[in-house]
Amino acid sequence: MNYVSTRGNAPAQTFSHILLGGLAPDGGLYMPEVYPGFSPDDLAVMRDMDYRELALTVLARLADDVSIADLKELVDRTYTAATYGHGRADSAFGEITPVRRLEDGLYLLELSNGPTLAFKDMAMQLLGNLFEYALDKAGQDINILGATSGDTGSAAEYAMRGKKNVRVFMLSPLEGMTRFQQAQMYSLQDANIHNLVARGVFDDCQDIVKAVSNDLEFKTRYRIGAVNSINWARVAAQSIYYFKAYFAVTESNDQKVSFAVPSGNFGNVCAGHIARMMGLPIHKLIVASNENDVLDEFFRTGVYRPRSAAETAHTSSPSMDISKASNFERFVFDLTGGDSAKVRELWHAVDQGGAFDLKQHGLFDRVADFGMVSGKSCHKDRMATIRMAAEKFATVIDPHTADGLKVGLEHRDAGIPLVCLETALPAKFEDAIVEALGRKPERPAGLEDLESLPQRYEVLDVNTETVKAVIAAHAND
Ligand SMILES: *Cc1c(COP(=O)(O)O)cnc(C)c1O
Repeated sequence: MNYVSTRGNAPAQTFSHILLGGLAPDGGLYMPEVYPGFSPDDLAVMRDMDYRELALTVLARLADDVSIADLKELVDRTYTAATYGHGRADSAFGEITPVRRLEDGLYLLELSNGPTLAFKDMAMQLLGNLFEYALDKAGQDINILGATSGDTGSAAEYAMRGKKNVRVFMLSPLEGMTRFQQAQMYSLQDANIHNLVARGVFDDCQDIVKAVSNDLEFKTRYRIGAVNSINWARVAAQSIYYFKAYFAVTESNDQKVSFAVPSGNFGNVCAGHIARMMGLPIHKLIVASNENDVLDEFFRTGVYRPRSAAETAHTSSPSMDISKASNFERFVFDLTGGDSAKVRELWHAVDQGGAFDLKQHGLFDRVADFGMVSGKSCHKDRMATIRMAAEKFATVIDPHTADGLKVGLEHRDAGIPLVCLETALPAKFEDAIVEALGRKPERPAGLEDLESLPQRYEVLDVNTETVKAVIAAHAND
């Protein structure tokens, strides 16, 4: 099976070919030429599989140019109880993504028991192993350059640490991350991990990454790569836990399930959409926005109007403070029935800083056919939901998960199980939990003294040339 660009002006490619890249050369995102489908008979067999077997079954269809034996080795090495059980090999986390029952018909899907306590570990750990495998086969190396406001950077660093032929240069802002998030990244001592702290804000970091990537000579010479959320392998790997959760909360494949997903770049909920396109009986995919409600506005009105960085609010669910949902183009591509000329037309306006209105294109009615609905949660809602979950379900949830639960409950249907995705553990966002509950959240064992570990980072001015010089100096380490 091949992958094509949403913009239709790039050659079709295999999974291995698009693995190490980001955008397609025409500026679009890669999508499967046709979705592999799981029939009711397939689903019946998959119902009894554990996480690794499910991962292999799904990925074998999506990464069909990697040999099954190699894929199995990679999957078995990635999805272990030690990695997804707060480091404890003997843990009760053998299910990898356990489902916690909150009340009848309402569940929390635990996705945050990996090394950095956020769901991004689910795909990123696999990506680390896939990168190492592919680079080794090709005899190449890569310098991964990224910018982070918290969760992505740490997930990438923990996935790539110690990997052969991979170096990571991660830009983070001097202020803006929680102390816990800073300590997670800066305490890594691996020689191939470079924390570059910019005297600026997250957008400054992102601008530097863009400037470096736009220097094609430098990019080619130093083999600059990315692990951002538009990477197809990340989205593909995230679809696995929708299958796992579906089987965990149903008894038969005649049942349907709804999922509530705290959303920013639309990667996580896009993975649910992909699972649905592959045949998983999903009722609703509930997109939860925070105060930065670009996505909620779209699902209510049909208007997609990305905001500028200056218009982006800094909220207490910071990993959703995103004003341009980079994976959204994938969903619109499917909504148009794979009409890349239409996608080009729509994104022509977006790429110029504008907007589009799907109603004017006669396409908005189709959104309902894909089961997508949305809602919005603000600081007050978030605090109230964290308190409600603690009192009613004896469960402390993080601020992002609270946004998902709040919006999920608004779209709950009688008789249909609702699964809320836990995108981070509360320990990562201590201040918000203290504000809501008046006490600190629990920390997984072993992380009690994280902030007092020695830290390793380099503080730099916001300057593209300085960052290039750091990369050049380490490119042959
Ligand atoms: C990244 C992140 C999100 C948003 O996920 P998207 O895939 O960008 O929609 C939500 N919550 C947390 C905790 C995150 O780290």
